[in-house]
Amino acid sequence: MSIQDIKRKKTCPSCYSNNNEHFSFFRPKENIRLRVCFDCDLIFKDTNSSNETLKVQEGEYYSSKKIGSLVDQRHLKHHKRRARNHLHYISKYFDKDFDKSVLDIGCGAGIFLDYLKQKGWKVEGIEPDPIMHSYAVRKLGLNIKQTLFCDWAPEKEYSLVYLSHVLDDLPDLNQNINKISKSIKKGGYLFIEVPNHSWPFRLNFEKEEDLNMGHYFFSISSLEKIIENNNFKILDITTFHLVHLNTIFQKIISPIMVLLKLRTKKYRPYLRLIAKKGC
Ligand SMILES: [Zn+2]
Repeated sequence: MSIQDIKRKKTCPSCYSNNNEHFSFFRPKENIRLRVCFDCDLIFKDTNSSNETLKVQEGEYYSSKKIGSLVDQRHLKHHKRRARNHLHYISKYFDKDFDKSVLDIGCGAGIFLDYLKQKGWKVEGIEPDPIMHSYAVRKLGLNIKQTLFCDWAPEKEYSLVYLSHVLDDLPDLNQNINKISKSIKKGGYLFIEVPNHSWPFRLNFEKEEDLNMGHYFFSISSLEKIIENNNFKILDITTFHLVHLNTIFQKIISPIMVLLKLRTKKYRPYLRLIAKKGC
């Protein structure tokens, strides 16, 4: 291993500080090595971890999921509910005079885009997974490119760029946020939702497929910093808790999940923000 390699894995990909340390799992994992940045709070994957070879374009991510690998009734119900929830949130901040054009990066089966299309938006997406892409194009008739974001070249600007549980899976953080920014019109909007790791111990309970896929594990402050450092003004950033009722198991444990909603902000499992591109 070269000196450059050693230095690279110890440099935070968000703030470029070397002030970080190894994250210790409660039960050590063989192939996952994470580091915690003391300057910006980001938890990032050590380049020695084994996830780099996951072939998303060949369907390896979705097929590794225990729940949500197919576009079945459960999948549709979950994503339609999420689409309604997200549009309701975005609409509170979205300037009504703006043209309604959206790019969904990592759009999956296209459920969010389909919902927005029905509301009169011009919609486009990027999705590398072949099964999800095929559903979005063939069943929903959407304009979706089957490619990885790193291989995609922006051709135009949109008034909204939307990443739901995707930013944490993209390598080269600053480079990609810069590319995202170039796809947003002046004064346009960025929506991001990711798991909330403001309480890092939660990583011990993270699904194996998500640990394999993720490059970054954001907290409220680390997400805030990377977005503000890339010339966006944050309009809102919030943590929240959803009670899923898609499976019988989820229905049985739902009273417990409702109680967990009372947890303090730091411990709620999801994190979302809406930001406006700087001028
Ligand atoms: Zn950092």
